Amino acid sequence: TSSPISATMTLDIIGTIESCYPDKFGIPRQPGLAPGATAILRLKAPFDHPDCVRGLEQFSHLWISFIFHQSPERWTPLIRPPRLGGNIRIGVFASRSTHRPNRLGLSLVELAGIEYTPTPALILRGHDLVDTTPVVDIKPYLPWADSVDDARAGFAPEPPPLLEVRLSDDCQRTLNARPDGENLAALIHEVLSQDPRPAYRRHKPDERSYGVRLHDLDVRFHVEANAPASGPDHDSII
Ligand code: SAM
Repeated sequence: TSSPISATMTLDIIGTIESCYPDKFGIPRQPGLAPGATAILRLKAPFDHPDCVRGLEQFSHLWISFIFHQSPERWTPLIRPPRLGGNIRIGVFASRSTHRPNRLGLSLVELAGIEYTPTPALILRGHDLVDTTPVVDIKPYLPWADSVDDARAGFAPEPPPLLEVRLSDDCQRTLNARPDGENLAALIHEVLSQDPRPAYRRHKPDERSYGVRLHDLDVRFHVEANAPASGPDHDSII
């Protein structure tokens, strides 16, 4: 018989994320919103034995369970999701907030490959994890078991609306000079179109300039409200 779980239990960190996102700011709210986001999940001993990942290469996507280690340990029963503008409060278990008991996160990511030397490392794409995120479990994604076509999604029924992104000439020149420029341009578009600004900044004129770090690049941006080039009904980010 299994031993009864006491009020607390210990989790082992099985690996750590090396991410294209050095900072939390700017990371999309869910994986898949920036398909070009890359990371390496480096397993650590004793979980780095090749037997642990035998057969995993047969799956295209993985569930990654991790700790929101850059969130505070305190939590509150009610939180204010950015999706609702940061004013309406809902229960922490009705949210995907990073401020939650046990600080457990869950992300569905693409498995782009596995490196086996010196020890197994998983190449991930389309993630939402900040650099150094500790990982506590990995599971293969089973579409027939893990996705429900007619599921209801409450106050988050579809992905957030996108902003049009226009790169400055200076930015374009920088990217043209880099071998990874094309991939970086795609990632910049994916991340900035999500409007990384805090929710309370989004619905009023905003003259501020913001910075998002992607890989080793510091991308500065500002939002132009209803810029003529972007059409009447949505803002654009430069
Ligand atoms: N997909 C996960 C989930 O639903 O549990 C995470 C959703 S949460 C809203 C996504 C945000 O978590 C990202 O925008 C990023 O700012 C933040 N984040 C990512 N890694 C983190 C970490 N290690 N500690 C704290 N916050 C993190």
